[in-house]
Amino acid sequence: MPQFLYGALCPYCRFSTPLLETTLAEMIRNRQVATTGEPFLVFVCQRCTRCFPWNYGMRQALSQYDALSRADPVWISIVAECESGDCKGQTELIAIRPHGTTKEEILRERPTWNAKDIYCDNGHQIIIPL
Ligand SMILES: [Zn+2]
Ligand SMILES: [Zn+2]
Repeated sequence: MPQFLYGALCPYCRFSTPLLETTLAEMIRNRQVATTGEPFLVFVCQRCTRCFPWNYGMRQALSQYDALSRADPVWISIVAECESGDCKGQTELIAIRPHGTTKEEILRERPTWNAKDIYCDNGHQIIIPL
């Protein structure tokens, strides 16, 4: 059965991360931080490794994808804590990488991730756990 394909466009480098409907549904179903800025997911761009929010409520399909020939991208989700010790704010960061990338490889990328423009629900900077 064909399924929808979306593109999560990075506002910094304009790279569009391909995202399948089933992957998106899986991400929403498995959210670790239920309340983080819904309907936004925060992605870590594959090209420039900056974090950006993507509004999945506004998504528009780019095309349909043949489910039989697909090579699913891999993704992991990391929970970042707020910089302020008193605030319990958490933000979920999701990295989507091409099929074949291992979770360990994605985890090793973390020092390069840039979350400068991402804030907790109370407006504090967040810290990417290493
Ligand atoms: Zn980018
Ligand atoms: Zn906070």
